[in-house]
Amino acid sequence: MTRVIALVDLDDTLFQTLRKCPPDLPADRLTPLGFARDGSPLSYATPRQMQFLEWLADTTHLVPVTARSLDALRRARIPFRAAVCAHGGVVLDDSGQVDMDWAATIADRAAPFASQLAGLAEAIRRRARDRGIAVNARVLVEDALPLYTVAKHEDADAAALFAVVDAAVPSLPKGWTDHRNGNNVALTPPYLGKAHAVAYILPGLRARFPDAPVIGIGDSRTDAPFMGLCDFAMMPTRSQLAGGMFHAD
Ligand SMILES: [Mg+2]
Repeated sequence: MTRVIALVDLDDTLFQTLRKCPPDLPADRLTPLGFARDGSPLSYATPRQMQFLEWLADTTHLVPVTARSLDALRRARIPFRAAVCAHGGVVLDDSGQVDMDWAATIADRAAPFASQLAGLAEAIRRRARDRGIAVNARVLVEDALPLYTVAKHEDADAAALFAVVDAAVPSLPKGWTDHRNGNNVALTPPYLGKAHAVAYILPGLRARFPDAPVIGIGDSRTDAPFMGLCDFAMMPTRSQLAGGMFHAD
């Protein structure tokens, strides 16, 4: 039987940090799936997320589509070969190797934005320092290629993080995107986005599995453009993307 193709965001869709897990679930019911470089667990799946992941892994052609760097994707315990990571800056082909054609395309597109990305990270760090706020801002780099600027508050104080970024970056150049979800701000240049990479890999998937429906799964507004390229879309009912569509809170 032809498998359904599932293009799946990871963080806050299949797992999340401990502080975002449902408070009524005892810790021993959580399964660590995302790990830091030193091997300590950072992200956990609930039992239902674990069953969802197992169902996807058993029945679909599962392709992670994540903002994570390639290194951070590899530190997630998810079965995959093909993948989209770094907000679309990196594509892994069906053998799990970096797609060099896409890498060349991205390298050409990324080059003009390198100094702007560094400038944004520096502006955020400087403003955080001035205000005595613990914000970490850096440029996410893949294979020596600066792709986007990411900022996080060290104690996950999203309001303080947003205030610092608002002050440091009152406006972005045309075509840039300011992605915010929880304790995470990503400033991405115009060429970068999950949807660009999904548009690149979809024709190959369609050719290989001509009648397979493609399901896009994600939780954030940044996932909507790539989900829109799929035949069906699925989201957690409590998520940024769902907003108040299913729950009043
Ligand atoms: Mg997500």
